[in-house]
Amino acid sequence: MFDIQEIRSQFSILNREVNGKPLVYLDNAATSQKPNSVLEVWNEYYTELNANVHRGIHTLSQLATEEMELSRRKIQKFINAKNDFEVIFTKGTTEGLNLISYILTSKLKQGDEIIISYLEHHSNIVPWQLLCDRTGAKLRVIPIDENGILQLDYLDQFLSEKTKVVSVNQVSNALGIVNPIEEIIAKTRANSNAYIVIDGAQSAPHFSIDVQALDCDFFVFSGHKMYAPMGTGILYGKQEILEDLPPFHGGGEMIAVCSFDGTTYAGLPFKYEAGTPNVGGNIALGAAVDFMNKIGHQNIQNHENALLDYAQKQLLKIDGLKVYGENANRTGVVSFNLEGVGISSDVGMILDKMGVAVRTGHHCTQPIMDFFNIAGTVRASFAVYNTFEEIDLLAEGVKKAQRMLS
Ligand SMILES: *Cc1c(COP(=O)(O)O)cnc(C)c1O
Repeated sequence: MFDIQEIRSQFSILNREVNGKPLVYLDNAATSQKPNSVLEVWNEYYTELNANVHRGIHTLSQLATEEMELSRRKIQKFINAKNDFEVIFTKGTTEGLNLISYILTSKLKQGDEIIISYLEHHSNIVPWQLLCDRTGAKLRVIPIDENGILQLDYLDQFLSEKTKVVSVNQVSNALGIVNPIEEIIAKTRANSNAYIVIDGAQSAPHFSIDVQALDCDFFVFSGHKMYAPMGTGILYGKQEILEDLPPFHGGGEMIAVCSFDGTTYAGLPFKYEAGTPNVGGNIALGAAVDFMNKIGHQNIQNHENALLDYAQKQLLKIDGLKVYGENANRTGVVSFNLEGVGISSDVGMILDKMGVAVRTGHHCTQPIMDFFNIAGTVRASFAVYNTFEEIDLLAEGVKKAQRMLS
């Protein structure tokens, strides 16, 4: 049974008011709220268990280590990784993508190519530009059409033995478009030996993920967008690839033997987890997975898709409102502008006065904004706790903004 009121009751923050109005939180693609169960686990760690992991012989250190490793196994199941040591704790998607692009440095040379898409977040663009600067490789970008849909015939043209990396997101944070990553991965495997990287920051909160079925080499996501604390994230990598590549950060935890004559590295996952990790956050990320499992992925997806359909329908009733990616397969996000009326931040400010939190601006995806020749959009994004009534309030607010700004 999907009981929205029961779900909402687990998020204390949803009871607060903003500017004298009940909070309508529709900025979930930036970060989701955290349920009490996650906050309790986090709090419990610091009140009952706090100790450094993997180091101490003493009881607390061992308990903290056990809890963090249990969380790693929950995440392994969550993405269906073959082994728990293929699950690396990071501080988020940005760190994961930077880590991957860094450790691939020695695998690329002048004239090689990296393929990304027009729909990427800056954190899936800039690390690859930096890798190009280090190696002389060239970036190729799969274009989109006016619906925001990737034009995969370009991928066919781009793929060759020069292609060393293909890195795309599963869901666009700016438009909510669901990209056909199965097809992208199949084409890439058939026509190159490239490493395949999936940015799952906007898919992990909404879909069930199966990295083995996908057959990607890397999959990265952020905890804070899927009900876990900030400063948490996951890098999944295939065992043989992670074993082959060099470490990223050097330091404690990641060595087998350290001496001035030379250092050998620890096995996975510790080779990629130098330094003291975010133990409390990593444990709480496991609790966030429990929270999602308890509701059920299909229930989450059904509810969020119903919200998206309803939001699009209500918003499109407003004269002069344009939804970007209107006809594309999407999840979780509706991105729009009122044509000829102010700029997105003006609309966002009026909504905020009504307690409605949305994101405005370029959403860390300036190339998409350039493509549509706009400075930004108003983005409403949904989580499992949002309601149809909240969408009515959003639509009402947008109408009010239109009246005030015309
Ligand atoms: C949010 C986001 C990122 C960056 O995630 P951080 O948590 O800020 O590191 C990357 N890609 C996509 C698609 C995102 O939505």
